[in-house]
Amino acid sequence: MSEQNTIGADRAVSLQYTLSGSDGTVIESGQIDYLHGYQNIIPGLESALDGAAVGANLQVEVPPELGYGERMEVEPQRVPRTSFPPEMEIEPGMQFHARGPQGEALPVWVVGVEDGIVLIDPNHPLAGETLHFDVTILSVRAGTAEELQHGHIHGPDGHGHH
Ligand code: ZN
Repeated sequence: MSEQNTIGADRAVSLQYTLSGSDGTVIESGQIDYLHGYQNIIPGLESALDGAAVGANLQVEVPPELGYGERMEVEPQRVPRTSFPPEMEIEPGMQFHARGPQGEALPVWVVGVEDGIVLIDPNHPLAGETLHFDVTILSVRAGTAEELQHGHIHGPDGHGHH
């Protein structure tokens, strides 16, 4: 057994995934590169991948509380379009941060745009969903000292993101 090829804390993981909803409809698919143990990905998926080896194929079911949370029953908030930069394209699915009561940053999502009004909702688009992941582990390597310090991985080009 080689731990080199196994997912665990401080490992940089690359995986291919297909995400489907409860009804089997494919929501998205693609590749994720993340640093294991730093909450880069939803908790239910991260814990299921612990100990998995390169090449492994896993089916992972993630309940809402370990995914994007339960759905809050709230009406979307109506925000004037003028609150956003005019040059910015505003589209459903976009994420912003709003200021909470204590000045904290709260994630919100655009759920609609109509006549000068942007509708925003505090629910992640996948809140309340039981998620089904089909995951194949592509590669696992040790995180670099810098990556561990930052708590996320850096791309093959090094430090492009900041
Ligand atoms: Zn960084």
